[in-house]
Amino acid sequence: MGEVISPVDGAGIGVVPGCSVDDVDAAVSRAAAAFETWRHVAPGDRGRLLRRFAAQVDAHLEELALLEVRNAGHTIGNARWEAGNVRDVLDYYAGAPERLTGHQIPVPGGLDVTFHEPLGVVGVIVPWNFPMPIAGWGFAPALAAGNTVVLKPAELTPLTALRLAELARDAGLPDGVFTVLPGRGSVVGERFVTHPAVRKICFTGSTEVGTRIMAGCAAQVKRVTLELGGKSANIVFADADLEKAAATAPYAVFDNAGQDCCARSRILVQRQVYDRFLELLEPAVRAFRVEDPARETAEMGPLISAAHRDRVAGYIDGADVAFTGSCPDGPGFWYAPTVLLAGSPADRHWREEVFGPVVSVLPFDDEADAIRLANDTEYGLSGSIWTRDVGRAVRVARAVESGNLSVNSHSSVRYWTPFGGMKRSGLGRELGPDALHAFTDVKNVFIGTEE
Ligand code: NAD
Repeated sequence: MGEVISPVDGAGIGVVPGCSVDDVDAAVSRAAAAFETWRHVAPGDRGRLLRRFAAQVDAHLEELALLEVRNAGHTIGNARWEAGNVRDVLDYYAGAPERLTGHQIPVPGGLDVTFHEPLGVVGVIVPWNFPMPIAGWGFAPALAAGNTVVLKPAELTPLTALRLAELARDAGLPDGVFTVLPGRGSVVGERFVTHPAVRKICFTGSTEVGTRIMAGCAAQVKRVTLELGGKSANIVFADADLEKAAATAPYAVFDNAGQDCCARSRILVQRQVYDRFLELLEPAVRAFRVEDPARETAEMGPLISAAHRDRVAGYIDGADVAFTGSCPDGPGFWYAPTVLLAGSPADRHWREEVFGPVVSVLPFDDEADAIRLANDTEYGLSGSIWTRDVGRAVRVARAVESGNLSVNSHSSVRYWTPFGGMKRSGLGRELGPDALHAFTDVKNVFIGTEE
């Protein structure tokens, strides 16, 4: 932890010292003290402060976007969307404190009401692939519900989170309400898990680390939300609009250089249109624009680091490469979009999350076969279904074990709707109208009315 490197050209772009365990403990104490005030800020005032925070993000949208282009290698188009997403998620949850209603339940002998009580200090742990949106999906609803937040960005991508903390302060959020603590997962992240005053962990990252975090949280019965890995299927039936399915498939997996938990990295194609689909896919992959992510025309930038590029390249060894796109030479951690033909579902590149611009294609015979192959994975995060048969679309959507499915499109994340994984892709849901419930505990109060 220290020097921040740009994946675009490998140049150093700043130095961010990592926090120590003592730094974390001091910040958690401040956050715990701030909680006693923040939880009692009137709902309308809490909403107003979050709206001001959103306005600050909006006013600095281009600055935040350019910072992400440099630090994470995201295309400028994506980075603008990501900063805008933080603004929108803040605005959306700014309306929530005034609507956080409980129930009034009919019971004999009195009045029974429920409250959604904030938990206290929430620890948000963020990966490097979408530093801004994933931070916002945690801190916005957590703050709206009356919690205070300590947030750890990924080692490789701390810059936008640190800037967001400054914007929160400029918006008038009181001291200690939202604190960003850069540092190592094994130091800062682990301390969030072991610190008794941190009452919930909201973690996004690998299934491996998430599993450890869940075990650590169990020791204190600490609340936990996990958004983990994925190996999502893009299922193309013979009756689909094949042109559209093939033209959009590259965007569903190569966006953000495939470093997307929702990447549709397994394409299942019905056997009778398999050859035709590949014919249509090839020009779309070759035309995919991989270039300096600061250019307005860029569709994909570099991978996040040299080590990650080596890891991605390791999946190609011995694999059957159908065709590839292109990428710049020279400095930067570039990797060309690559299409692999899976020999069988046992292939390593078919089973494991590559987290790079690599997609595997496999034919299937019928609907039952497609569902069986799609579900033959430990993951269950997202997926797409391409068919013109409405009944089939609904049957397959219900049968695929995945938290977020999309028919004749590749949508996964919309802040109005719940997002999260089944199986080993995660636990709990973020976003959507109910996200505040993940940052509160229900309290039931019975008031006796008998004389
Ligand atoms: P990672 O698990 O290595 O790291 C994620 C975060 O956890 C980082 O901030 C890291 O510092 C921290 N961390 C590491 N060890 C820790 C520990 N022992 N205790 C506490 N915190 C620790 O993941 P990554 O490589 O940064 O991100 C890639 C992974 O994230 C992929 O598997 C991807 O699928 C997943 N992801 C999931 C979603 C989702 O919403 N489901 C979204 C984005 C990324």
